[in-house]
Amino acid sequence: MRKFLAFVHAETSTGARSDAKALCALAKQYDCLSIVDAVTSLGGIELRVDEWGIDAIYSGSQKCLSCVPGLSPLSFSAAAVEKLKARKTPVQSWFLDQTLVMAYWGNGSGAKRSYHHTAPVNALYALHESLRLLAEEGLEAAWARHAAMHLELRDGLEKLGIEFVVPAEARLPQLNAVFIPAGVDDAAVRSQLLQDYNLEIGAGLGALAGKAWRIGLMGYAARRENIALLLQALGNVLAKK
Ligand SMILES: *Cc1c(COP(=O)(O)O)cnc(C)c1O
Repeated sequence: MRKFLAFVHAETSTGARSDAKALCALAKQYDCLSIVDAVTSLGGIELRVDEWGIDAIYSGSQKCLSCVPGLSPLSFSAAAVEKLKARKTPVQSWFLDQTLVMAYWGNGSGAKRSYHHTAPVNALYALHESLRLLAEEGLEAAWARHAAMHLELRDGLEKLGIEFVVPAEARLPQLNAVFIPAGVDDAAVRSQLLQDYNLEIGAGLGALAGKAWRIGLMGYAARRENIALLLQALGNVLAKK
């Protein structure tokens, strides 16, 4: 029996973007609820939770929101809440039991709230500020900034002879996965960037370990001066090899 369609919107281990709109429509077509990992997509690329009919979605505070880590903004559709409430077996985990967490939130209609955990209010103030900054810039303007910065980085990397792992139409602006040029020592370059320029780029994961670098351009970090610094630093380090 089909129940859910779950996927990662911004796939940070490979730098690929999933077509969330199409996947959520597919879920509807087959009578499934959609579950979306938007940890690295929120604030960085187009994401329309209600318009695309996303049923359950979660994100993180520490990626394109440029906030302190520790919080996970999430949202449920009416169908997802219904599904949670209709559970017949108890949830095995106290921490992840959404029915208890929802009772902690209250439902806004004066129903009695019950304790679940102590909310990290200091982190919530930080999230409020990061969302205020995002609202001030404008969500769509922030998406456009990530896209523009990605193209600027791409042009500079291509001048250094570096190629992207993902075809152009499925690239994530906020996570640029590129092939390590032939004959270059992966770890040596990354540690030199860190030591000499205070710049950290990600290593490849899984099948891409030792073959790719992952260059983040997330939230506040997605700005021109960081790209200029990286291109100059990487150019210098590669020239010495
Ligand atoms: C970073 C990331 C995570 C992990 O987030 P944590 O808060 O470190 O657990 C999960 N999914 C995606 C797609 C990510 O990019």
